Amino acid sequence: MPELPEIETLVRGLGPDLRGRAVARVTVRENRLRGGVASDFVARLSGRRIRDLHRRGKYLLAPLDDGRVWLVHLGMTGRLTLAGPDRARERHDHVVVELDDGRLLTYNDPRRFGRLAVLEPEAVGAETGAGLDPLGQAFTPAALFALTRERRTSIKALLMDQRRVAGLGNIYVNEILFRAGIRPRRRAARLRLVDCARLVRATRGVLAAAIRAGGSSISDYRDGRGQPGWFQLHHQVYDRAGSPCRRCATPIRAQVIVGRSSFYCPRCQT
Ligand SMILES: [Zn+2]
Repeated sequence: MPELPEIETLVRGLGPDLRGRAVARVTVRENRLRGGVASDFVARLSGRRIRDLHRRGKYLLAPLDDGRVWLVHLGMTGRLTLAGPDRARERHDHVVVELDDGRLLTYNDPRRFGRLAVLEPEAVGAETGAGLDPLGQAFTPAALFALTRERRTSIKALLMDQRRVAGLGNIYVNEILFRAGIRPRRRAARLRLVDCARLVRATRGVLAAAIRAGGSSISDYRDGRGQPGWFQLHHQVYDRAGSPCRRCATPIRAQVIVGRSSFYCPRCQT
């Protein structure tokens, strides 16, 4: 599933091409995505100029010249790909946006958990949630410490809770907790401020490394040019149960926490 680094990679890759471009034509071939593609989606997007492209959590946001915002969430298997006008149609190409220079921005999504909408600006917050963006300035040790107070959940569940921290999923939370030396099951309320400082540092470090590597391609993820990311080659713990820890050689352990596989080193993480 695409997480924050993959979306950030998309924004950086597609942003320069999309900013300032106008939408010439929109074709919806399949509207059964998450929440459905609204009947006025085509009318709201056609003819509009894309003013900017940025990210909030795992959402791509493109403010349009009429003040509305085009929102894209890739769900589990979504891909947004920019290609020339002669791009051959593929299975699961659900929405095709033709730009004024003839290029095609195609939304492909085999499992259809993604979301596409054009919203009034004041409706965007309700859709994306109020969680702190882990690359934003507001994500500080003190802010994370405040979030952990009175929480009965594990730190892993808290970091994956989109209402509190936006954009982190299972892969990166496993990697962040390893880098911070904290076990996934540790009670959030038990963390000290110094632990939160380590977590914030680890979060920024893991996300920056993943963005540099172009994201992780676990299953279907591709960037805006159809290229896979390579961060999966750098995973320290994710999906490495039984393999030696890259730091201390102790076998990595797996454990299910709130329904998701967790991986940790029993020696490096306490
Ligand atoms: Zn270790």
